Amino acid sequence: MDTEVLVAGAGPTGLMLANQLVRRGVRTLIIDRHAGPSLETRALGVQARTLEIYSHMGIADRALELGKRGTGGNIWADGQRRARVALSDAGEKVTPYPFLLVLGQDDNERIMGDHLRELGCSVQWNTALVSLTQQADSVTAVLKLADGSHRNILAAWVAGCDGARSVVRESNGITFAGAPYEHVFFVADTEMTGSMVPDEVNVYLFRNGFHLLFPMRGKDHWRIAGILPQAQRDKPDLKFDAVIPSLRNEGGEGLSIRSCTWFSTYRIHHRSAVRFRDRRCFLLGDAAHIHSPVGAQGMNTGLQDAYNLAWKLALVVKNQAKPALLDSYEQERVPVARALLNGTDRAFRLVVSDTWLAGLLRTKVLAKIAAFAVNRKAVQKAAFRTISQTGIRYPKSFLSKSLHGLPDTAPQAGDRFPWVLLRFAANGPVEDLFQKLSDTQFNLILIGQPPLPENAFAFDDDLVRVHAIAKDATNDDELSRAQIPQPSFYLIRPDGYIGLCGTRLETGDLRAYFAQNVYLNTAREQHVKERTAATG
Ligand SMILES: Cc1cc2nc3c(=O)[nH]c(=O)nc-3n(C[C@H](O)[C@H](O)[C@H](O)COP(=O)(O)OP(=O)(O)OC[C@H]3O[C@@H](n4cnc5c(N)ncnc54)[C@H](O)[C@@H]3O)c2cc1C
Repeated sequence: MDTEVLVAGAGPTGLMLANQLVRRGVRTLIIDRHAGPSLETRALGVQARTLEIYSHMGIADRALELGKRGTGGNIWADGQRRARVALSDAGEKVTPYPFLLVLGQDDNERIMGDHLRELGCSVQWNTALVSLTQQADSVTAVLKLADGSHRNILAAWVAGCDGARSVVRESNGITFAGAPYEHVFFVADTEMTGSMVPDEVNVYLFRNGFHLLFPMRGKDHWRIAGILPQAQRDKPDLKFDAVIPSLRNEGGEGLSIRSCTWFSTYRIHHRSAVRFRDRRCFLLGDAAHIHSPVGAQGMNTGLQDAYNLAWKLALVVKNQAKPALLDSYEQERVPVARALLNGTDRAFRLVVSDTWLAGLLRTKVLAKIAAFAVNRKAVQKAAFRTISQTGIRYPKSFLSKSLHGLPDTAPQAGDRFPWVLLRFAANGPVEDLFQKLSDTQFNLILIGQPPLPENAFAFDDDLVRVHAIAKDATNDDELSRAQIPQPSFYLIRPDGYIGLCGTRLETGDLRAYFAQNVYLNTAREQHVKERTAATG
């Protein structure tokens, strides 16, 4: 086998996957048909859930240093500011990162690419995947190299992170169901001043469309995203000048544009692959789903796909779990993509519809509803959880098992375990649970439970890190705030989601969960496999 996993595509999704696989000790080859990293900003919003993952990788500080924190959002209509939502309030106590980090895709790729190199793996640029054929226990991939020659390589698994025109998807004959929108999007990176609230996201709604303005690093730097006026949709080689009149129209007299360093137009589609897997090949990121950029979800969703698949693939590659575990990737990520496509499609149609009535809806009704809704704390919190991706759940996954006895209000199997600050040792310091969790292991949180018996696990102990929570008044308050009952136990998957939970931990339940839900190979099976491999 030339490699255990071939990652096709070194965009954000491929870089995240390669990072996660390499840090878990998986032999990985990552290729990209381009000569080097992309220099275009493209996606700009890094969501809280992505920053939580960056923190486990040790790159969150670098991202925070380079990015700009968007702590609020403002909605404008008819030249007036109609509503403001404070993201820092809505996300407080939900995540250590209660904001939208404005950091270009190029910077995200650079940070992840640098980290991958530090882990000892580099992207093989100028290398395109041309086709692939699957066998029972491997995949043959045909690569085109920089000098135009072809090379066949054998991989145990292939991850298609190769974007909207994915060769992995097409080689496996997987339909990319959906359609293009008739609208044409534009993006522009500018230096300008005007009515915008500094350091915050500004949304301008007007009769003929909308403009989103994101604060970028540096003084008066703004990313503008919007749709082209109808009359300009089919004009080739359009320049930034073409959108200035409509910007001035709703940005007001005070708008002063000094420069534009990047302007691009593109047609967008909403499509989803009908399957995210074909035997030994997986689809992730834009190869699996594309949608409108309204909501800054595209790049982040690809990163979550990669984080979801990586730990499962690593356990299977290292023979610690059976391949049946991998079925949960599709089961968990397809519904997330479908919900995202439906949600962004609805929002997009509302903000871009060309009809006169929709124009009226946008400036009058939508702005009013937004102003009313954002003043409601519960609405703000729900919106934050959705947009920040901290609210993604997998309740229907076969990996999610809540045992009897937990109240409905408690965190349940399939939820991301809540962010809490706890005292782990009696009289010790109050610490951030997310910093204590290992994302290369399962984590077992024990609250008011007797100590675990010797040999509680029928497998390698390194797979689970145990955290016993001390009985303490501070802990009582924090647990009750997060609606975590006492006594209880929570087995958290490496990607931070609750796998198994209940009120009283029985070793038998734990063992059964690992054997029947996670499909872990028992120590004996593992031992036999290793011996067979050693003797050939
Ligand atoms: C102009 C523009 C603006 C955008 N703005 C936003 C935004 O504001 N917010 C947002 O969330 N999203 C935005 N997006 C979408 C966002 O860029 C994507 O969702 C994101 O790039 C997906 O990452 P990915 O790694 O899955 O795919 P990609 O970034 O497309 O990366 C795929 C990689 O695979 C490589 N590749 C392709 N085919 C092959 C092959 N056969 N062999 C080897 N390598 C191959 C490509 O060279 C590329 O590097 C925007 C997109 C565009 C085009």
